[in-house]
Amino acid sequence: MPELPEVEVTRRRIAPLLVGRKIRSVRTTADSYFFLTPPAEVAAALQGRTVSGVSRHGKYLRIELEGGGCLVVHLGMTGQLFGSGVSSVRLLSATARASLAPEEQTAFEPDSHTHLHLRFEDGGADVYMRDVRKFGKVLVLGPGETHERLERLGIDALEVSGELLFSATRKRAVAIKSLLLDQVVLAGVGNIYADEALFLAGVRPTRRAARVTRKQCDGIADALRGVLERSIETGGSSISDYVAPDGSDGSYQDERRVYARAKQPCFVCGSPIRKTVIGQRGTHYCPSCQK
Ligand SMILES: [Zn+2]
Repeated sequence: MPELPEVEVTRRRIAPLLVGRKIRSVRTTADSYFFLTPPAEVAAALQGRTVSGVSRHGKYLRIELEGGGCLVVHLGMTGQLFGSGVSSVRLLSATARASLAPEEQTAFEPDSHTHLHLRFEDGGADVYMRDVRKFGKVLVLGPGETHERLERLGIDALEVSGELLFSATRKRAVAIKSLLLDQVVLAGVGNIYADEALFLAGVRPTRRAARVTRKQCDGIADALRGVLERSIETGGSSISDYVAPDGSDGSYQDERRVYARAKQPCFVCGSPIRKTVIGQRGTHYCPSCQK
């Protein structure tokens, strides 16, 4: 699932394809749970409007429109936002992908999973949003309008501090890992980066939040910002269906220390990395480096 770094990489790479351009026409798929605003209303709200900016909070993107209002986009599990002309095997169906060697890439053609297709007045590259499993969401907000999904989000995880984390953990009986994943506390942290940050901070993911010390909270906050920033720098983690808007793959997965490394030796002490389940999420840690 795309987490904060993948969404931020998407923001940085899609912005040049959107900002300052006037939308000529919008094609959508039929109404479905993908559209929090009905597709006809999405199309009507965007047509003839110029994009003024693209911002991000947690895993949500806001495509801002000149004169106010915006299109909010959440990539869900398999959402992809990109421009025409990209080629990536991740844009093909699983069956088509299985029959291709990784180096055989094909230019993208809009298909039944392409829920939004934006064309522009300047006749340049089109922009698509594609989502095979449709856990992604789009919605339109008018000027000054907000939505409960955005209102309940905590601070963006790139801005986390030890102080904030410490106050959020007091009197909380949940595991520290679950608290980090709680979007009301921190917006944007998902499974990979929570596991990696807890490893770097030397804190065991199962530890009760209320028993994490102030000093450890400082360590977790620093580690979280560090892994998120490093992942953004490397283009995010290419896992499952995530694809950057230019079709390129990220490489953060090559730097993971614990995530998806169960039974492999810890890079620090050599102990086998353990996998457990916390709040239904696979969780990876080193039993000797993390207390
Ligand atoms: Zn270790």
